[in-house]
Amino acid sequence: MSLHRLTARALLDLLKSGKTSAKEAYNAVIAHIKAVDPKVKAYVRLSSQKPDFNAKNQFAVPIGLKDNLCVKGEEVTCASRILKGLRSPYDATVVAKIKNSGGAIIGVLNMDEFAFGSSCETSCYGPTFNPWDLQCVPGGSSGGSAAAVAADEAPWALGSDTGGSIRQPAAFCGIVGLKPTYGRVSRYGLIAFASSLDQIGPLTKDVTDCALLMNIISGYDERDSTSVNTPVPDYTKALVNDVRGLKIGIPKQAFVQGLAPQVRQAVEESLNVLRKSGAVVKEVSLPHTPYAVAAYYIVATAEASSNLARFDGVRYGLRATPGAVRKNTLVDMYEETRSRGFGDEAKRRIMLGTYALSSGYYDAYYLRGQKARTLIKQDLDEAFKDCDVIITPTAPTVAFKVGEKLSDPLSMYLSDIYTIPANLAGIPAISVPCGFSDTGLPIGLQLMAKAFDEEMLLRVSYTYEQNTEWHLKKPRL
Ligand code: GLN
Repeated sequence: MSLHRLTARALLDLLKSGKTSAKEAYNAVIAHIKAVDPKVKAYVRLSSQKPDFNAKNQFAVPIGLKDNLCVKGEEVTCASRILKGLRSPYDATVVAKIKNSGGAIIGVLNMDEFAFGSSCETSCYGPTFNPWDLQCVPGGSSGGSAAAVAADEAPWALGSDTGGSIRQPAAFCGIVGLKPTYGRVSRYGLIAFASSLDQIGPLTKDVTDCALLMNIISGYDERDSTSVNTPVPDYTKALVNDVRGLKIGIPKQAFVQGLAPQVRQAVEESLNVLRKSGAVVKEVSLPHTPYAVAAYYIVATAEASSNLARFDGVRYGLRATPGAVRKNTLVDMYEETRSRGFGDEAKRRIMLGTYALSSGYYDAYYLRGQKARTLIKQDLDEAFKDCDVIITPTAPTVAFKVGEKLSDPLSMYLSDIYTIPANLAGIPAISVPCGFSDTGLPIGLQLMAKAFDEEMLLRVSYTYEQNTEWHLKKPRL
């Protein structure tokens, strides 16, 4: 039995039937990682301790975590030289919830440095490769999480999404990825990128697993003042194959220049599948979305430059050794630590953000970015008066080649054109597999819903999944 190939749901059923044990399942996943990860390079490290399988976790499903989630006693680095060697003194709330539910943490997955990127190439550990084509990127920044799930190196994984970092890699790797509503999942113990945008969410093999993992990680947490105290529904109840009468909005602005024809075609065919299942498809308008990428790169970099100010060589990770410091004053130590510790993209973001916030430029950049953000949110509020979900492609293209966009930040930034509005507006959005290019690379369909209406997303994507077979395809490694 190839236990590593199973969905979390299927594995859980086997465990409950007594046909396999949690230890056997865990070992099967580890053995598969040893076999394929030298090619995929999804993991940056395995957990330092193997879980001890006892009565409490006899139904433990293994899980992989992005390298920005804190696990007590384990190294956490955000794939950055500046944090190497840092060990977390506590568990992130999502990690505590996973542990309480009996989950077994396999290890830590690669990402773009501090989650800055769309390709997993800015990691200090080197890139992760797309399991469907090892010459291509897995997407980012949760590229390790997506590649691991697609390559059966984890039944499921957690990632974080600030501007698309769960959904875009899920699309590139042919799996399901959900960014929950801002406030639905506690970020306590997530190393912050942009605090008004960040969310933690599941990357899974299908929509059912997505609902199951949401049941585990969602909920109010007094340690995250932005988490919202509203009841968590049982998300598995939303898994119904029925979209009759639901209204699906397609933004006029969705079919932008730069959208690959094969992606467009796959999205249009998906709409037909939903129409046949009884949904009504109608056009909506989101007139301010063309400003989303620009607004995002002001707001996100401003917040990042302030969040990253704490990494100065004093409290965390790397400190430039005095011998290497020019004059050896405190400021020299800061400067040396930060110049050596941060990679190029992190430096670019810190400079952009600091500039946008600096006096004299604040009104011209940050304030205008925030105003554009409000208009984008209002467009979405307006559109949702008239429809239940909004559908777009997840990304304008399929996975690109390793190295192709690394020296062209602007074209890299444009791969988030469809995913960013949901972060700016704080609403939930999911990516589900919806086809393949003629080069055999997966295509993702993005669905967005009103704040706290994850159930609607799960219902529509479950219906879509029940009527298609894309999610059953596996890469050959
Ligand atoms: N690719 C986007 C960026 O580089 C989004 C990253 C993310 O969601 N963490 O900022």
